[in-house]
Amino acid sequence: MNFVLHGHAVSGGITVGYAHLVSTARLEVAHYEVPAVAIDAEVRRFDQAMKTAQDELYELKAHIPPDAPPEFGAFLDLHRMILNDSALSQAPRELIRSRRANAEWALVQQMERLVERFDEIDDPYLRERKADVQQAVERVLKALLGGADGKAALAEPAASEEQKLIVVAHDLSPADMILFKRHRFGGFVTDVGGVTSHTAIVARSLGIPAIVGLHHARQTISEGELLIVDGVQGLLVVNPDPLVLAEYRARQAQLKAERQRLRQLKKTPAATLDGTPVELFANIELPQDTPEAIEAGAEGVGLFRTEFLFLNRKDLPGEDEQFEAYRQVAQAMQARPVVLRTLDIGADKAMSGGDGSHAMPNPAMGLRAIRFCLAEPQIFLTQLRAILRASQYGKVRILLPMLAHVHEIEQTLAFIAQAKQQLDERGLAYDRGIEVGGMVEIPAAALALPIFMRRLHFLSIGTNDLIQYTLAIDRTDDAVAHLYDPLHPAVLTLVANTIQTATRGGVPVAVCGEMAGDLQMTRLLLGLGLRNFSMHPSQLLPTKERILRTRLADVQTMAQRILRTTEPGKTLELLAELNA
Ligand code: PEP
Ligand code: MG
Repeated sequence: MNFVLHGHAVSGGITVGYAHLVSTARLEVAHYEVPAVAIDAEVRRFDQAMKTAQDELYELKAHIPPDAPPEFGAFLDLHRMILNDSALSQAPRELIRSRRANAEWALVQQMERLVERFDEIDDPYLRERKADVQQAVERVLKALLGGADGKAALAEPAASEEQKLIVVAHDLSPADMILFKRHRFGGFVTDVGGVTSHTAIVARSLGIPAIVGLHHARQTISEGELLIVDGVQGLLVVNPDPLVLAEYRARQAQLKAERQRLRQLKKTPAATLDGTPVELFANIELPQDTPEAIEAGAEGVGLFRTEFLFLNRKDLPGEDEQFEAYRQVAQAMQARPVVLRTLDIGADKAMSGGDGSHAMPNPAMGLRAIRFCLAEPQIFLTQLRAILRASQYGKVRILLPMLAHVHEIEQTLAFIAQAKQQLDERGLAYDRGIEVGGMVEIPAAALALPIFMRRLHFLSIGTNDLIQYTLAIDRTDDAVAHLYDPLHPAVLTLVANTIQTATRGGVPVAVCGEMAGDLQMTRLLLGLGLRNFSMHPSQLLPTKERILRTRLADVQTMAQRILRTTEPGKTLELLAELNA
């Protein structure tokens, strides 16, 4: 049966592929097709990993420390029994053969079937045993991924045009999305989530079509069904008929040609028709995003969301590891500015272990970002030292997230001074004049801007959070996604006043929220006086084209008219006129 589901478009483009149903755990492993000639070897790889896991359990049992709790041995036996069950020891072998799938995927697929059955058990003790199944399987997965074969396979999943997999999930966290960077999926769709959630932002940075808020996709779609993800309109077509498929293939080709055409603008300086230069920077989440930013002609990195280095791991990245990551970006960007935002952990970006994962009553308003860093001086100082050390290798700047109080800036400046002193004591070099800027993403900061400007070298408007906090809507919650309105007069007033006050005060100001990469907003922001935009790399060239076709004098008048309008219908009308 063919049908269409409607959701919120998150990331443009169109992709055609086969449904791959996932839950969080399954994302940890790649799914790829094993060539027919390699199937026997894949089964052997599975058997070997099973044996390694069993051997480890024997070994652990033989060396139980005397002070270990008495039930420890019993758990090891239980894990061995679980692995001996044919559902895990035999069924994945059959799956490898019948689906020509890799061993990790086959194993996790079976694990999930088993775990689902546990969910139906009434007895709470037995129901809890599903955690043992997951742990036992994790041991095998580790053995699989630890082998040289596993690594090679992960690096090169088969993903030809015709075999693309579309991830279908109920929900995905930003941490899950980061794992997508390692696998080559064709697109992703989820039942829940807001368009400016961090999950959606990472999806955009992957440059693959994506839709959120489909409500029933995970329930109604079966593994392997043919899907069209229309990331432009937010439509998911399930089992399309040949005519629809042909139509979408044609549109796909058009979009590809369009992207090729835009590539010619890579080296053209961004300026309006009257010659006013505009800076176009890139937002990145990980050092490996840098080549794409350079490829798209970014003049700098306007936002490196460093917290992504802290996700999907139980430990914290140390000073040296962070330094390496920051240095890599600073060096790759050569003399171009790199704005490193300090750890914005919390809310939807929770760390796996440590203090970031506290259950908070309202995480978006809790111990997030600068609040978390000021409460955890050692974590903060470690990051500041790593950033300072990297400042030797390029034009690095520090950006502080979620500022609301002057004392937060003052405390942070004291921590930066302390980090510098610690480096001096170790005889390590850094840029002594490193600039420190702040994000304007809480209405309080926008409304009391002069007190922030006095203490900071530059500002960056985080419209994602500014809208969330101004309109009191959780950006991750699709139930209120329809209320997320960048054109709300309150939002536009805060953005316009921030740009104007900063510019008059001689403080450089950028927009680094999703509004910066929204083509509907480019001219409006230019008209309001914005001259620095930071966005995910895939939007840089379309935005540049829009700027090249804009006459500043025209858009300035129109922007003021939009700002004065209080009728939503009229705002849309004027915006359409501005973009005509
Ligand atoms: C923002 O809030 O607009 C922003 C850029 O920061 P983040 O999306 O990472 O919260
Ligand atoms: Mg933010």
